[in-house]
Amino acid sequence: MIIKLKQQLVKTSLRLVEKGLVVATWGNLSIREEKKQVFVITPSGMPYEKLNPEDMVTLDFKGNVLEGERKPSTETPLHLEIYKAREDVKAIIHTHSIFASACAVSRVAIPPVIEDLASLVGGSVDIADYALPGSEELAKNALKALGEKNAVLLANHGVIAVGPTVDEAFKTACLVEKAACIFINAHLVGVPKVISKEDVKTLRNYYVNKYGQK
Ligand SMILES: [Zn+2]
Repeated sequence: MIIKLKQQLVKTSLRLVEKGLVVATWGNLSIREEKKQVFVITPSGMPYEKLNPEDMVTLDFKGNVLEGERKPSTETPLHLEIYKAREDVKAIIHTHSIFASACAVSRVAIPPVIEDLASLVGGSVDIADYALPGSEELAKNALKALGEKNAVLLANHGVIAVGPTVDEAFKTACLVEKAACIFINAHLVGVPKVISKEDVKTLRNYYVNKYGQK
């Protein structure tokens, strides 16, 4: 049901504000509707606290607006590219969270230094080449740097977190910010050590197949 997705977007928007991952009207999020081959996205330039389900915009995978009176997020091309390329992705969250953005500004990837990040993202959070916000070029660069992982940094801009559910994408957005904070602070007390590729793979496999009540 599309209305449920719109409600989920409103709820998650408020959680992003609460966590301090977005400020004012920046950032955006969307959820894919499997059966109808559409996705629902937040509107452009509206304060999160004032969003209602009817402000959300429904689009098809060609970028046509099917429902909604508002202008969709300016980062719609970015969401579109990711949904088209990654069938496993059901939700996308784009934030401008502070510590992750600090890494994006320095154009330094966040390596898998902590196990929760390794489990959720599946490796380092790499940097997509710089392009202007809202551009097709940014969408292409982001997709390329994202690969099969669940998060990517946009140079001089912010973070993209994706997942099989909106809750998981939210969790990933939070963990990327936490990992960026740890990574930056770790430099103050020493030299951060990165978890080995092999162990990252093991952690990711365990998370996907066995973690929690599975
Ligand atoms: Zn942005």
